[in-house]
Amino acid sequence: MEASAPQSAFDSQAPHDALGIIVPAHLEEIFRGRDMLWRLVHKVEMLQRQFQALADEEFCSEMDSQAVVQTFHRLRALIRNGLPFTLCDCQPYGECPLCKGKKWISGTQYLQTSRPGLTSV
Ligand SMILES: [Zn+2]
Repeated sequence: MEASAPQSAFDSQAPHDALGIIVPAHLEEIFRGRDMLWRLVHKVEMLQRQFQALADEEFCSEMDSQAVVQTFHRLRALIRNGLPFTLCDCQPYGECPLCKGKKWISGTQYLQTSRPGLTSV
């Protein structure tokens, strides 16, 4: 069995959270997932733009185009608000009610912490 190379915190590929903080090694996989989800959000945005370019065509005349666009918006928001946002303040202490021991929080959870300087994610 081949061991994978250890990831250094100084590695330029080391994942960051939304605040630019390099995440600790045990959360790298989570924040790589964050990057994958962001790429998905951008793909949904591209799909939305492609749809909007077609929405005025005759073949869309029987379609609720506004509802389709709203659904794209909602899909993007659902993914964006739930993806890993930043490290939880409780580190390195035990379980906390916010992150429930995961040590990271979503954008929605971050807004619930009422930290200054951010009104949306
Ligand atoms: Zn926590």
